[in-house]
Amino acid sequence: MNLNRNQIKIFLYLGNALILAVHVFLMAFFTATHVSLMVIVNAVSVSTYICLFLVIRYERSRTYIIVALAEIIAHMLMAVNCVGWSCGFQYYFFGAMAMVFYTDYFFARAKMKRLNTIVLSLICAASFPAALILSRLRVPQYILEDDITLVITVINALFMFAFAAVCFWLLVSKANYYENELARQANHDKLTELVNRNYLIEHLQKVYEEEDMSDYWLAMMDIDDFKKINDTYGHNCGDYVLKSVAGLISENSCGMIPCRWGGEEFILVGRIAEHRAEVPGSASFVMEKVRRAVEKYDFRYEGREIKVTVTIGLTRYTKDQSVDEWINAADEKLYQGKHSGKNRLVV
Ligand code: GH3
Ligand code: MG
Ligand code: MG
Repeated sequence: MNLNRNQIKIFLYLGNALILAVHVFLMAFFTATHVSLMVIVNAVSVSTYICLFLVIRYERSRTYIIVALAEIIAHMLMAVNCVGWSCGFQYYFFGAMAMVFYTDYFFARAKMKRLNTIVLSLICAASFPAALILSRLRVPQYILEDDITLVITVINALFMFAFAAVCFWLLVSKANYYENELARQANHDKLTELVNRNYLIEHLQKVYEEEDMSDYWLAMMDIDDFKKINDTYGHNCGDYVLKSVAGLISENSCGMIPCRWGGEEFILVGRIAEHRAEVPGSASFVMEKVRRAVEKYDFRYEGREIKVTVTIGLTRYTKDQSVDEWINAADEKLYQGKHSGKNRLVV
């Protein structure tokens, strides 16, 4: 699952607006506390972030991150220099580091040129001891009242940890989402959205290990004269028929797992306790229902009516049969159905 450049732009616009808002807040805070040097620093920061909207607009995303990072570190060192270590501006290194990894992940998803996260995170990490050394070497230029120091420290710490936590949470939820999506794609056929051959084989191996197989049934189904449909109406029409047949199989499968085995062949497999063919709910009954559903369905492509039927071979699991032997047994019945006129169920 990939992101496009517009999504990256929106994400950067939102991030930029957030950082801009923080600097507007800090400018107001330093104005109120008469820390004039930091008012100027924040005025420069606000102007920088206003200009950075243009950088985002012209898709200079890497430039944006590097400038924003330089600003955050410079601001942090200036703030520690002006109001001292006890105001908690050093925590901004943590948020900056989270921002670097988070944006790099997005750049990778959008197939954009990546950031050098190692170098950038080392720079962020080095800014923390640099701020500490600075605070030891220099007496703060402005001394804030204790209560105000406490309030700004709590705000800085909460904001930075909340920001980093949101970045990590988003990263983890995105990674989980993409992994699940990848697993789904690996197990499903793209055209029909049924499970694919790999999934079915794995599923059967698991069922063999974990369950009593005595009530399991397997049906191999093949669309009749499908090549003719392709040749007469075109490949796209063939795809439409495949999708529609897959939909009908799913609707009528009564708990059996439908799989696109390959080409125009499908397998249905599942546990069905009722063995008497004439009784509703038996495997034969279910498969006959599927066959009839396809036979009766009004297939239409570009206004043209298409006659579609399927032939089905159905077998119950027999003791000590391997997966291959079981599938071959169903295939054998399918073969019999094809050679005795098609459009039928052979059990
Ligand atoms: P039979 O009744 O004996 O099964 O004859 P058939 O024509 O259905 O079987 P055959 O094996 O001769 O042809 C199957 C065709 O299915 C050939 C192949 O091009 C087509 N096919 C396989 N996969 C796809 C697909 O994903 N889309 C489309 N449109 N055609 C496909
Ligand atoms: Mg075939
Ligand atoms: Mg066929």
